Amino acid sequence: MADHDVTVIGAGFAGLYQLHRLRELGFDTRVIEAGPEVGGTWYWNRYPGARCDIESVEYSYSFDPQLEQEWNWTERYAAQPEILDYIRHVADRYDLRRDITFDTRVTALEFDDATNEWTVGTDGGERFTSRFVIAATGCLSVPTRPEFDGLENFGGDTYWTWDWPEQGVDLTGKRVAVVGTGSSGLQTITAIAPVVGSLTVFQRTPSYAVPAHNHAIDDLLAEVKRHYPEFRQVSRLTRGGAQCGEGAALPPFFEDLDDGTVTSELERRWDNGGLCYQQSFFDLLLDPDANDRAAEYARARIRAKVNDPVVAEKLTPRSYPIAAKRMCVDTGYFEVYNQDNVELVDLREEPLARFTERGIVAGGTEREFDVIVLATGYDAMTGALNAIDIRHGDRTLREKWADGPRTYLGLMSADFPNLFTVTGPQSPSVLSNMMTSIEYHVDWITDLLVHLRDRGAVRVEPEVEAEDNWVNTTNDVADLTLFPQAASWYMGANVPGKRRVFLPFAAGVGAYKQIGDGIAVAGYHGFEVA
Ligand code: FAD
Repeated sequence: MADHDVTVIGAGFAGLYQLHRLRELGFDTRVIEAGPEVGGTWYWNRYPGARCDIESVEYSYSFDPQLEQEWNWTERYAAQPEILDYIRHVADRYDLRRDITFDTRVTALEFDDATNEWTVGTDGGERFTSRFVIAATGCLSVPTRPEFDGLENFGGDTYWTWDWPEQGVDLTGKRVAVVGTGSSGLQTITAIAPVVGSLTVFQRTPSYAVPAHNHAIDDLLAEVKRHYPEFRQVSRLTRGGAQCGEGAALPPFFEDLDDGTVTSELERRWDNGGLCYQQSFFDLLLDPDANDRAAEYARARIRAKVNDPVVAEKLTPRSYPIAAKRMCVDTGYFEVYNQDNVELVDLREEPLARFTERGIVAGGTEREFDVIVLATGYDAMTGALNAIDIRHGDRTLREKWADGPRTYLGLMSADFPNLFTVTGPQSPSVLSNMMTSIEYHVDWITDLLVHLRDRGAVRVEPEVEAEDNWVNTTNDVADLTLFPQAASWYMGANVPGKRRVFLPFAAGVGAYKQIGDGIAVAGYHGFEVA
């Protein structure tokens, strides 16, 4: 008999909810977490300005109406400390910590056909067995570490946004460089600009960023709390797992709108703020004309914020469709470049050559710094899974996925029985409000485990044909969209050597739920149970 019924890897939002669900149902469950605390993303990413870009009333658990009622979000978009407080509150409220082993990394998983169990190996040298393993390892939990020439030579302080010191860093009056202008870079730059002595931003690709218009939400929160269950039902059937203040209404199709309405719709969405700008038209990521209009409007709004037209042009994204890379939500980011002590280095014009003891050489110029901040992104979706030696017989998951992930529903991979992934590749995942996607996956996996237990079954895995069909479906859906036109982390383009395939399922959370529910109702169609 296995040491545990289920091992869950990771104690972020996904792992915690998975533990709670399984324990309630009597499964002997153990969680292994590499970090010293619960929280995942929101524990590690403590950089200045770190903030969620999904609205708080949506980016929270829905599984317990009491929890929904008792927790009071203060802002439209919660900052990292508030989210971490919430996660800690959840861990304490449901007494989750007693089944979590912290400071321990799962390094190996090996499946034994004779026992139908996984042997779990950790970096502490422990080995134990588990009937099922659920990887709640996170989609953005393995940072990329670009091999910058000479980085180790820099004599000042270097910080990565994903591993910011818990006690904070005093940047007052310092000469600071920030490398990277994705979401973490933007948030950091905006937060530190008022205090640093000088700030130099090294930008490879400009980001589309929509203003947050963040504010206190007492009234909105009270209103949502009055009908939270119905509110959540609506969100679960939307494309992005959040309502964008529009309820169940679908966005209009671009071609159905006259020119004036197109402009007013873009203006309305932009002025409302946030990622929902990308929902301006239903076909914004399907129709190049729709995308061009939304992109041009965004570019005009961005240019209007920056005083120097040369700098404004450098900050204006042109090389990829809007929203085909993860959009950013900003609070005064572009205005930072109006400060006299802020410089933008466009790496397309001045390529980064190397780091030196004093600073960074780009475009033949050495600039000197006290502090360098690296905001260079993540090996998204597959990074954390590929970091574990997952083995069945003579094959590893890493080898199987060398040309891109192969899964059924983003939940399991054929020939790797009894192993589940929460928000895995080929599920909506990073294209959605992750809380909606996490809860859906955790509930779906839990239902399947109960189904197996009720039948005395000890093994489940997808049929190869079902998996092949799902891989084709995922790729076909992506190919209908403009997503593949951007060299994004959705495509694996930010990791040297990573196969470029579109990683998430692009048809949306609502469509995915209907498919997942249908497969479950049909007796887990496409899965082999033994
Ligand atoms: P994580 O929170 O990543 O937790 C995974 C945990 O697994 C980590 O604690 C990690 O240490 C642990 N782990 C990984 N591998 C191992 C191993 N081998 N052994 C042991 N432990 C392991 N999503 C949104 O919907 N909206 C947002 O605005 C948003 N903003 C984000 C901002 C940043 C900076 C980042 C990085 C991500 C953001 N996300 C956002 C995505 C975010 O990751 C999810 O919303 C959510 O927090 C994921 O929860 P999780 O539990 O699935 O994964």
